[in-house]
Amino acid sequence: TLTTIAFIGLGNMGGGMAANLAKKGFIVNAFDLMPEHLEKARADGCNTFGSAADAVATCDAVVSMLPNGKIVESLYIDQDALLDAMPKGTLVIDCSTVAPENSRRLAQVGTEKGMRVIDAPVSGGVAAAAAGTLAFMCGGSEADVDAARPVLAAMGANIFRAGDHGAGQVAKVCNNMLLAIHMAGTAEALQLGVNNGLDPKVLSDIMLKSSGCNWSLEKYNPYPGVQENSAATRGYTGGFMVDLMLKDLGLAMQSALASQSSIPMGASARNLFSLHKKSGGEDKGGLDFSSIQQFYQ
Ligand code: NAD
Repeated sequence: TLTTIAFIGLGNMGGGMAANLAKKGFIVNAFDLMPEHLEKARADGCNTFGSAADAVATCDAVVSMLPNGKIVESLYIDQDALLDAMPKGTLVIDCSTVAPENSRRLAQVGTEKGMRVIDAPVSGGVAAAAAGTLAFMCGGSEADVDAARPVLAAMGANIFRAGDHGAGQVAKVCNNMLLAIHMAGTAEALQLGVNNGLDPKVLSDIMLKSSGCNWSLEKYNPYPGVQENSAATRGYTGGFMVDLMLKDLGLAMQSALASQSSIPMGASARNLFSLHKKSGGEDKGGLDFSSIQQFYQ
């Protein structure tokens, strides 16, 4: 059984996830480069360490939640060589959103060194990470995904096995490409209505009961003032940043190139978000992604 979990990367997402593991009774050995994140983890019931290698020295599983694939590979394999610092047989669960190739390399090198590895990127955002209601999309062997389930269940509400190593990342990229497309489409439709004299709230109510209904319209309305607790109504602060969506759309492009797939809608969405980021003279990468509404205004 897995009792001691090393947790690397205590940012917006990882902070809440590590806290939930500690709350559910796991021993959590945490590390992050930022001292204030370590302090918060300590307050949430985690043990904290001065290096990633120290954090993984005694553990049954490692969970990581890091910004990108370069950092994941550098930490586990190249610069920090964490795969050489953890006990043999450790279950490595990388929850970061990275390219499928990053996940496959981690799995290959990890397996050679006697570890068990799965990719387990998440959907749900910062609120779901704090509430323990994330969805996990796993890639790896059935046995390893099953072994990870008790750990993932402490942080999430839905656990899916998409397929072998890297498959979790493919599922994540497909989902987020579709999210970008329906968010941009929703903003476009709302603006068309407003520009022709409609109230965005009235138009939203109509489309919610019509065939244009979708998750962005229902849960994440991009027009300010339509929903009380939306990022749009908060001035597009908090939530899921334009820069992270651009990263995911870049990963979708890579996957399309690797498989010679046509993704005209995804490519348009990537261009829209990229133009939006640089529009109006200031970098909008830090705004919530529903701010794509501004691009149409
Ligand atoms: P974040 O930048 O808030 O957190 C990343 C953390 O990793 C930071 O605390 C940073 O200090 C730490 N870190 C970086 N390099 C490190 C290293 N070498 N050793 C130890 N710690 C290191 O980012 P986030 O929003 O928590 O996102 C993390 C991952 O989750 C990303 O891959 C992102 O795409 C994915 N994701 C984010 C969301 C979201 O809504 N924010 C939703 C789903 C998935």
